[in-house]
Amino acid sequence: MLMKVLGSSSSGNCYIIENDSEALVIEAGVRFVEVKKALGFNIRKVSGCLISHRHKDHAKYIKAFVDSGITTLALEEVWVSSGVSGSRACRIVPGRGYKLGRFKVLPFRANHDVPCVGYLIEHPETGRIMFLTDSCACDYQFVGLNHIMIECNYSMPRLIEAIAAGRTLASQRERLMSSHMDLDTCKEYLGETNLDYVSDIVLLHLSENNSDERHFISEVERQTGKIVYAARPGLEIDFNNAIWQN
Ligand SMILES: [Zn+2]
Ligand SMILES: [Zn+2]
Repeated sequence: MLMKVLGSSSSGNCYIIENDSEALVIEAGVRFVEVKKALGFNIRKVSGCLISHRHKDHAKYIKAFVDSGITTLALEEVWVSSGVSGSRACRIVPGRGYKLGRFKVLPFRANHDVPCVGYLIEHPETGRIMFLTDSCACDYQFVGLNHIMIECNYSMPRLIEAIAAGRTLASQRERLMSSHMDLDTCKEYLGETNLDYVSDIVLLHLSENNSDERHFISEVERQTGKIVYAARPGLEIDFNNAIWQN
């Protein structure tokens, strides 16, 4: 399966995991027409869409998904705040498992400034994927991961630099620290995680002002010894998993 990034920043998040006959969409923060285009206009193959939280960069286009008959998983709070409802609008409970076609999905609580979840995703072709964004920390450890998609929004030195240069407001600092993941926390978490079966790590939601893509990638590569990518529109990664299937 292929993992495609359509967007991974505060201007819009969306990821697609797909093969020729199945697809899972994660986040609805990119215009639905872009998603359809990326799917080759074959939306019938979409098993479902996962939403992490209600912020516009993740859920702005949620109505278009539901209206197109795509089963969409989100917290109750997301549905209430968006005013979207219907048989395809699935209210999730963190810790409970869901099946979307051949995808098995487990939402787990994240740490953001509004209710937010990460997802553990499993498919026979990809193995086990961890997805976590907009979370200042991760309270859970998962075994047997094959692919890790995790936020790496800013680093403290970059943030301090950006505030000094006037690119980032000083008042943003506290909010960022309690709602988004920084490089050190990301590295620490990955350092505590069993990476034996992990084939790649994808860093998500890098801040435009407070991050440094090349530095973040090399730091995480050094920490983990794995292949590391930074998500940006157009990035495609082969998520097939030989290790898991053997
Ligand atoms: Zn966000
Ligand atoms: Zn957010």
